[in-house]
Amino acid sequence: MGKKKEAKKEAKQDAKNEKKGHLCVLAGKEKFEKIKKLTRNPKFICFNCGRVADESDNLCNPMPLDD
Ligand SMILES: [Zn+2]
Repeated sequence: MGKKKEAKKEAKQDAKNEKKGHLCVLAGKEKFEKIKKLTRNPKFICFNCGRVADESDNLCNPMPLDD
C-alpha cells in the first residue's frame, strides 16, 4: 500500500517539473518532440548545461546567445 502512495507522489513531482519545462528536465525524460519545438529559434543558452532554447524560461541558468 505504501509503495502505491509513493508512486503517486513521484508522478506529482514529475508534473511539477514538466510545468517548469527546463530542457535539462525534459531531456532526462526523453521528451525530444517537445524539446525540438522549444529549440527551433534559440535565443538563449544554459550556462549550466550548454543547452539552447527559444525562451529563457526553458533553461535553468539562461544567458542570451547574441551577446
Ligand atoms: Zn541547463
